[in-house]
Amino acid sequence: VIDVELRNIMKKFQNNVVVRDFNLQVEQGEFVSFLGPSGCGKTTTLNMIAGFLDPDEGELLIKGRRMNGVPPYKRELGMVFQTYSLFPHMTVAENVAYGLKLRKVGKAEMQERVKRVLELVKLPHVADRYPKQLSGGQRQRIAIARALVIEPSLLLLDEPLSNLDAKLREELRDELKRLHQEIGVTTIFVTHDQEEALSLSDRIVVLNHGRVEQIGTPEEIYNRPASEFVHTFIGKTNRLEGVVLAQDGEGLTVKTAGGLIVRAARQQRAFAPGERVAVFVRPEKIRLADGAAADEVNHASGQLMIASFLGAFTECEVKAGGHTLSVKVQMDGQGMPLTPGRAVNCRWESEDVLVMPA
Ligand code: ADP
Ligand code: MG
Repeated sequence: VIDVELRNIMKKFQNNVVVRDFNLQVEQGEFVSFLGPSGCGKTTTLNMIAGFLDPDEGELLIKGRRMNGVPPYKRELGMVFQTYSLFPHMTVAENVAYGLKLRKVGKAEMQERVKRVLELVKLPHVADRYPKQLSGGQRQRIAIARALVIEPSLLLLDEPLSNLDAKLREELRDELKRLHQEIGVTTIFVTHDQEEALSLSDRIVVLNHGRVEQIGTPEEIYNRPASEFVHTFIGKTNRLEGVVLAQDGEGLTVKTAGGLIVRAARQQRAFAPGERVAVFVRPEKIRLADGAAADEVNHASGQLMIASFLGAFTECEVKAGGHTLSVKVQMDGQGMPLTPGRAVNCRWESEDVLVMPA
């Protein structure tokens, strides 16, 4: 069952097109994220789904019904924003009950539903407090409770975690995941944070300058990016420019500007010998070993420049083959001492190399 459908949606402000050719089908119960940098059109698109804005072109369908021109209150949506949008003069219980009051739900049922949804977000004890007596994380949980209490057919979340500090953000992220698993409401979640999108989503829509770059599962987005933009936006990577030496059925060989020979397994598209390309290898895909060794395919010897201990892993910078490579090293206790200046060599697998046109 398709809950939400965007067909060739376009939106412009004055003459500035900020969303174009947006096509998407969201299945019932799905958790879909809009991911992209600030200004790429995430909020504008969400606001069109919510009904705060109308598309200039294209069709918007919710549960199969055309929604163009239908006001927000007729769409039965729950929405949560980045900034806390609770009413300051109302208690938590009154805030949460607000949508039910508008819908003329009876008092007994209202109290029951408020109680249930506060239990759902694990805050049953704050019902009588005012928003200013709550922490930021608690306020966002209440905002989520207020959105859910009307049992919306669709939950829209616009960067709800962005104003929280790192630890709380992760806690509430796990909480959102649990909530979604528990109630299964169709959800569209806007974020500029790739980790949030990867960890929460069934599918991610990557946006860049108002265009859809790719729609896919977190694994597809991470492992088979449709463009350089998607690959670099989704996580740290090494980018080496070079020229294609050879292409065959198994993959291709590239000589980088720094003189390394890189072998890449079969790519999604073909390249011609002589073509200028960029090769990408993620820092966590490079293995660091002791000492110098002769340069060979997918192998570079060099010098360790910087090692930053980050707890679960150490981020290293290695000068090798005329490039500076970022390498993520797992610390397992038997690793070599990561002393700056020492000789090291780097290796990677051809399956972990991505090639894009330069
Ligand atoms: P995001 O949520 O991805 O950060 P937005 O959807 O808020 O991006 O904005 C997309 C683009 O549209 C931006 O360039 C922004 O400046 C512009 N924009 C958003 N709202 C308006 C508006 N009401 N009038 C004019 N331009 C707008
Ligand atoms: Mg926004």
